[in-house]
Amino acid sequence: MNSLDSEHLMSELKTHKDYIQTDNISDADLIIINTCSVREKPVQKLFSELGSLNKVKKEGAKIGVCGCTASHLGKDIIKRAPYVDFVLGARNVSKIKDIVDIKGAVEVDLDYDESTYSFASNGHSIYKTSANISIGCDKECTYCIVPFTRGDEVSIPLELLVSQIQKSVESGVVEVMLLGQNVNNYGKRFSDGSTKSSFTHLLKEISKIDGLQRIRFTSPHPLHMDDEFIEEFATNPKICKSIHMPLQSGSTKVLKEMKRGYTKEWFLNRALKIKDLVPDVRISTDIIVGFPTESHEDFLDTMDVIEKVRFDQIFNFKYSPRPNTAALSLESIVSDEEASKRLEEVITLHKIHQEELLHQNIGKTMKVLFEELKPNSEISGFSDNYIQVYVKGSEELLGKILDVKITGATRTVLKGEII
Ligand code: SAH
Ligand code: SF4
Repeated sequence: MNSLDSEHLMSELKTHKDYIQTDNISDADLIIINTCSVREKPVQKLFSELGSLNKVKKEGAKIGVCGCTASHLGKDIIKRAPYVDFVLGARNVSKIKDIVDIKGAVEVDLDYDESTYSFASNGHSIYKTSANISIGCDKECTYCIVPFTRGDEVSIPLELLVSQIQKSVESGVVEVMLLGQNVNNYGKRFSDGSTKSSFTHLLKEISKIDGLQRIRFTSPHPLHMDDEFIEEFATNPKICKSIHMPLQSGSTKVLKEMKRGYTKEWFLNRALKIKDLVPDVRISTDIIVGFPTESHEDFLDTMDVIEKVRFDQIFNFKYSPRPNTAALSLESIVSDEEASKRLEEVITLHKIHQEELLHQNIGKTMKVLFEELKPNSEISGFSDNYIQVYVKGSEELLGKILDVKITGATRTVLKGEII
């Protein structure tokens, strides 16, 4: 989502203010840091990064801070780093063209609604595009700062999405990534008065776009994975068979304290149903260890879910206390040392699964969309179920979806031959 916001910032500046991109920081007239605030570390890094940029930037160049930390710290950023020219929140991206010229501007309005704004096209990849299908988040997960930095959830109207994706397809795009904090909550609220809709309906409508071959989405919430959605995921040939299922914790008690809305059993039931209906599915997840009330027994429940589901990819996080969140007031029973130990245990178990699962693909044939030239006359792309695959080849393969016979695997990628 942050990458797409960065692309929107660049394309708006390119289209409306004649900026062009440079790879050389000391050439830049404008430097923007697009920030995350989900965990504390990136927030700390922001100020040291700003200090170094201020030293290397060219005389008179502007510095802007955008994104979630901008929403969260607002004018305090300029107080701490007075050479920062403007601050633009994660829910105010479309205002970049107006505020870029206003020294000291701070635009962090959490109620600002840009759900019907048509961003200038980014043309980042000619084969793939991303589209936000909603902004903000209506959930109240007790550890999470996002609702305080991105505001309430509003869905982007279906017609706007379809016409935007259609336009990209006409210029050569074959794959779309649908983005939102909670994609399968799509359609509960629109700002333009559109009638309520659902994510499954959205998937059906988007898959009608001629020439669009692949649909991906992230993140869906396990709570909203109803049978109708799973059925559509399993049977719609345009929907890629990889899914992110953010578990967070395997303990029903901790899930309740996190306000996730589902139980261990519900999560397992959904994940195993998906695996059953889609044998080649690739499932990734997010896990937080060291939530303040997580006992050792709770942690074992998380390990149990990992063991039962065998995720293809896990994004692991040590709990990070965040301002404004409900969990901030909880007294922690987990020492930092214990949290690090739990993190290591998750990583070790996952590595075993990851390697086994990847090696099971050897001998199979997969459809790969080729996207990137690599050294040693190789080219790489992603399979339908989102595994990176390398083959020998050159630029004439770019943008093509071809059958590849898998001949080998490293720990994270596959090697193959075009057939
Ligand atoms: N909307 C997505 C998550 C967005 S934040 C969802 O609900 O799945 C991305 C991930 O960061 C979360 O899934 C969670 O695992 C992690 N995260 C969020 N807040 C955190 C915190 N306070 N400490 C550690 N990890 C956190
Ligand atoms: Fe944060 Fe929960 Fe919303 Fe995800 S669903 S962004 S974890 S509040």
